[in-house]
Amino acid sequence: GARRHTGGMAECVRVITRCRPFNDREKALSSKLCVEMTPSSGQVSLQGPDGINKDFTFDGAYFMDSTGEQIYNDIVFPLVENVIEGYNGTVFAYGQTGAGKTFSMQGVADIVSQRGVIPRAFDHIFTATATTENVKFLVHCSYLEIYNEEVRDLLGADNKQKLEIKEHADRGVYVAGLSMHVCHDVQACKELMDRGFNNRHVGATLMNKDSSRSHSIFTVYVEGITESGSIRMGKLNLVDLAGSERQSKTGATGDRFKEATKINLSLSALGNVISALVDGKSKHIPYRDSKLTRLLQDSLGGNTKTIMIACISPSDNNYDETLSTLRYANRAK
Ligand code: ADP
Ligand code: MG
Repeated sequence: GARRHTGGMAECVRVITRCRPFNDREKALSSKLCVEMTPSSGQVSLQGPDGINKDFTFDGAYFMDSTGEQIYNDIVFPLVENVIEGYNGTVFAYGQTGAGKTFSMQGVADIVSQRGVIPRAFDHIFTATATTENVKFLVHCSYLEIYNEEVRDLLGADNKQKLEIKEHADRGVYVAGLSMHVCHDVQACKELMDRGFNNRHVGATLMNKDSSRSHSIFTVYVEGITESGSIRMGKLNLVDLAGSERQSKTGATGDRFKEATKINLSLSALGNVISALVDGKSKHIPYRDSKLTRLLQDSLGGNTKTIMIACISPSDNNYDETLSTLRYANRAK
């Protein structure tokens, strides 16, 4: 954004926040609105229980009535254009369970304006590849999940098998044995998305009984071959992160507690990597601290673009989690 210092990584990381409407539970509790946004300037003001406001500024602020269409056109479109031109890009949705991460990434199919980032990116990619002259395209997809710091293929023959992350001089970091699927059209991508989505780990917490406790990465590899035979490869990572809530609020014990600890580890590692990149002064970027950051190593930093969608609730009974989400997002700018 313009308010940042120019040059360096800050230009390549964009952070927006999106506030969902009140849900039935919040309405039943007669919760109060504690979030105010000024969309034109990206400002967010969070009103504390003590009446004191905490103010933040992001590259975009999307209030309750905003749409997936606006977010895509304003922020995501240029990133996907870059991917088609051969660069890597990553879109994350961050926030507590129930804040709208999956809604932002997948959206709802029956309300056209509320289709999410993922189906829009599919449309965008296949429209571009069908209309770009002098370049032939080949699109592959993969879909994996990181659960308890273990990597699994959501589209493989055996989705219980743990896969290893390896490093190769030419290939860089990759997941050994991860299945790759050729896609010739939008429909093929959607089918893979749905198939993998149904294989995701879900765990019951008090907050949301089908909350996702894993991080998932859907990757679209866009390979372009020009008439002169040169090859370029762009990679788009679409990441639906696990809920960022602290375990005390979700009443986690046993397995759920173990999950929460691992989830927090990956999320804090991601925060550290992004803030080290944005800061620009750090010589050491701590990619190796978690599976998530290792896997995304070639798609965070360098000449790649990153977008974080920080999803929040409007309700005062989620104040603490909303503050923690806004602080996390603020570190990433
Ligand atoms: P998360 O993935 O962060 O746990 P979800 O995306 O599943 O949360 O959202 C929780 C609920 O709120 C869902 O029923 C979803 O349809 C609804 N929801 C989330 N964001 C919005 C929004 N911006 N507009 C309307 N409904 C939303
Ligand atoms: Mg979700």
